[in-house]
Amino acid sequence: MPKAQETILEIDLKALQHNINYLKSKLKPGTKFLAVVKAFAYGNKPEAIASFLEHLNVDYFAVAYTSEGIALRQAGVTKPILVLHPQTVSFSDLIEHKLEPNLYSLKILSEFIALAENRQLNKYPIHLKFNTGLNRLGFSKNDIPNILTLLSPTQNVTVASVFSHLAASEDLNEREFSEQQIGLFKTITSDLLKSLKSTPLLHMCNTSGILNYPEAHFDMVRSGIGMYGYGNSEKENKSLIPIGTLKTVISQIHHIPKNESVGYNRAFKSNTATTIATLPIGHADGIGRQYGNGKGFATINGQRAPIVGNVCMDMIMVDITNIPCQEGDEVILFGKNPTAETFAATANTISYELLTGLSQRIKRVILK
Ligand SMILES: *Cc1c(COP(=O)(O)O)cnc(C)c1O
Repeated sequence: MPKAQETILEIDLKALQHNINYLKSKLKPGTKFLAVVKAFAYGNKPEAIASFLEHLNVDYFAVAYTSEGIALRQAGVTKPILVLHPQTVSFSDLIEHKLEPNLYSLKILSEFIALAENRQLNKYPIHLKFNTGLNRLGFSKNDIPNILTLLSPTQNVTVASVFSHLAASEDLNEREFSEQQIGLFKTITSDLLKSLKSTPLLHMCNTSGILNYPEAHFDMVRSGIGMYGYGNSEKENKSLIPIGTLKTVISQIHHIPKNESVGYNRAFKSNTATTIATLPIGHADGIGRQYGNGKGFATINGQRAPIVGNVCMDMIMVDITNIPCQEGDEVILFGKNPTAETFAATANTISYELLTGLSQRIKRVILK
């Protein structure tokens, strides 16, 4: 591959395919696979990812918001798209683009049914989410009689799936809690299914759920981070390949003597002669200020160059005193080595935040 000449996020679709095949190898035959492509496909290029996955063995897509689903439809995605957190204000757009809403409360369910009646929709697919312990979004078990009262008289909607979300699927110390969630989901769905006209798909597992709770795969699983190459554990990371590599270049090199400062607020002071490289990436690109002052690092010709001083909006400065390199050289922030998980850990955060925080200013380049 050619060396980077500016800041780019390189996206490896072969790695994506590998990751999906690995995750699917954990499933029983017939279990469906939902690809979570919310938040710009975790910072990657959602249209490119989804168009690629249209032709792979993926059954469903999910996004957080209606606008994200519309972007996928406009890119030619025809498979079903679940909108995890629709707002009533976006229902018309959602229906117009054949997106499928997650309805998570009696209020939003009755509003959607009223609209479906008004538009004379026929068996429009909806999804019901139950809260089993995350306490974020979802019906409670006690809502079942009222849900059935709303659903029984209408032909305008049909329940395509019933689902829930694990609170700590990556944390094996919370196994007992996760098992409680799974048990509650089983109780809820068996109660509900007795009285529903349709036979909805049941699903509960995110990536770590797929890996840690095979007994909870039900009819479908939902993977985000795993597709992008992260398994939330050292063991699983070995089987997955990060699909994105964030690269930049050295814009300029400064040789500074002892007792000078670098960057805003003079946050770095040299206590010896120091060589500094300036890189064209900053907090406006998603490398937040928390990575400054020696926490984060860039990798140049295989060696670690710590970020010195404060992260600027469009630039960072790194210490290259002992690294042979020159202006124009390629720099790796993260990718296959070091990974986004390693980089994120330097500032006490997680791969999810780092990846989804990469701004749209960074050019995405698809490796074919
Ligand atoms: C984001 C999300 C997922 C994907 O989780 P990963 O840990 O990235 O696999 C699955 N389900 C729901 C409801 C989500 O919001």
